[in-house]
Amino acid sequence: MAEAFDALIVGGGAAGLMCALTAGRRGRRVLVVEHANRVGKKILMSGGGRCNFTNLGAGPDNYLSANPHYCKSALARYTPWDFVAMVERHRIAYHEKELGQLFCDESSKLIVRMLLEECAAAGVRIEVGCGVERVRHGPGGFHLDTARGVFSAPALVVATGGLSIPSMGATGFGYDIARQFGLNVLPTRAGLVPLTLSGKHAERFHDLSGVAFPVEARCNGQAFRNRMLITHRGVSGPAILQISSYWQPGDDLRLDLLPAVDAFDWLRRQQAARPAAELKTVLADALPRRFAQRLCEVWLPNRPMRQFREAELRGIAAQLADWPLVASGTEGYRTAEVTLGGVDTDELSSSTMMARRVPGLFFIGEVVDVTGWLGGYNFQWAWASGHAAGEAL
Ligand SMILES: Cc1cc2nc3c(=O)[nH]c(=O)nc-3n(C[C@H](O)[C@H](O)[C@H](O)COP(=O)(O)OP(=O)(O)OC[C@H]3O[C@@H](n4cnc5c(N)ncnc54)[C@H](O)[C@@H]3O)c2cc1C
Repeated sequence: MAEAFDALIVGGGAAGLMCALTAGRRGRRVLVVEHANRVGKKILMSGGGRCNFTNLGAGPDNYLSANPHYCKSALARYTPWDFVAMVERHRIAYHEKELGQLFCDESSKLIVRMLLEECAAAGVRIEVGCGVERVRHGPGGFHLDTARGVFSAPALVVATGGLSIPSMGATGFGYDIARQFGLNVLPTRAGLVPLTLSGKHAERFHDLSGVAFPVEARCNGQAFRNRMLITHRGVSGPAILQISSYWQPGDDLRLDLLPAVDAFDWLRRQQAARPAAELKTVLADALPRRFAQRLCEVWLPNRPMRQFREAELRGIAAQLADWPLVASGTEGYRTAEVTLGGVDTDELSSSTMMARRVPGLFFIGEVVDVTGWLGGYNFQWAWASGHAAGEAL
């Protein structure tokens, strides 16, 4: 005998819990089915344990999607301030780190606790450690066959997230459900992910692991100015993670190694001030010493500054401002923060997240082809899309 609800939500992550508490508050009988042993695991590990739970500047321009307009409606109807109001109601202390990024002062655990308290107050039932064996659709709506029996409802919300960090419970189940109902799923790939180097490119960097400095990373018309970190496998750091979402193997990726200055102007001033100093010594004032040295061993001529003619300085400046980084790939889903691609937004209503062709079937959060930048944008999409569906259930 199936247990009946108004809505079944598969996945107790950020989007699923927000959807559940929103629908529960509206008097809906809601069941969240989570296969991991606890809800909100990605929230717990996010932001280095402090959860970068939103970004005050979040807007449609901060998201990648085959349809850049799709996210507009949901983001406009549930803003970062709406989430901040809930955080403040629960007396969770937070701070702005940089660029509008809001973090908990103490721990991500407080965000999960807040969502669970809101769900409890709204009468939401949550089953953890409960795998879904099969989804059926027929008379009486949607039926979930699970290890704990059959659950039925006229509405099914898929909030199973993306493929990143499989060890945390990520699965492709949401995409499978979409395909089961004949919905298009766009190809997926890892986003916000470290890039790898190989061959001579890796050899030139391998002993510089741990070196970090600000760059502007540019690819396919996008540019991010932030820190880059050289790792033992390639490059990471916020600037690289951000640009990784816009990069695919073979794409031209360029770094401005001196993003804060006009490189030619700066070199000329250095030449006038320190004519006897070698280029590598001068560069070490603006870049980590070991990296400056490597630049001059491999790519740039190292001579006393006075020996460079203006045209040569212009050439060096051009290289520093537009330095090609030849990446071979990414570290993949194992370390990626997000999954690009997913359920095609053409299949879904942008105001309710419901599948146009399958009444009662909703997709929210990262499983949908909407992916945010680094900096709290992905949670804001999870909250906003979860809220939009929760209002429609
Ligand atoms: C290390 C890391 C740090 C991050 N830090 C930030 C940050 O600070 N700020 C930010 O905005 N974003 C951050 N992100 C991204 C953010 O965590 C995700 O975009 C967000 O969690 C997506 O929400 P979601 O609800 O769609 O998916 P998830 O939060 O991933 O939730 C999906 C849930 O579905 C469950 N599930 C999967 N398959 C099944 C199944 N078959 N049956 C039942 N349940 C299932 C999963 O166990 C999981 O609980 C980070 C991601 C990672 C990996």
